[in-house]
Amino acid sequence: MTEPQNLVVACPNCGKKTNYHPENISRPFCSDRCRLIDLGEWVNGTHRIPGEPVHRQDSEDSGDH
Ligand SMILES: [Zn+2]
Repeated sequence: MTEPQNLVVACPNCGKKTNYHPENISRPFCSDRCRLIDLGEWVNGTHRIPGEPVHRQDSEDSGDH
C-alpha cells in the first residue's frame, strides 16, 4: 500500500473533502450526484445563486466511503 493516491480535494459543488482517486469516478466531486448537479448548474447558467452560500454542511462526512 504505497500508492501515492491519498490526495484529498474539496468537492467543487458542496466543498466536502473527497479522495482524488482513480476509483472515484466522480472526482473531483465527492459523488456522482454532485458532479451532475454541478454540470447541470453550469449548463443552466445558474451556478451562481445569489444569497445562497456555496458551502453547505461541512460536517457531512459520510456517503462517499
Ligand atoms: Zn459534493
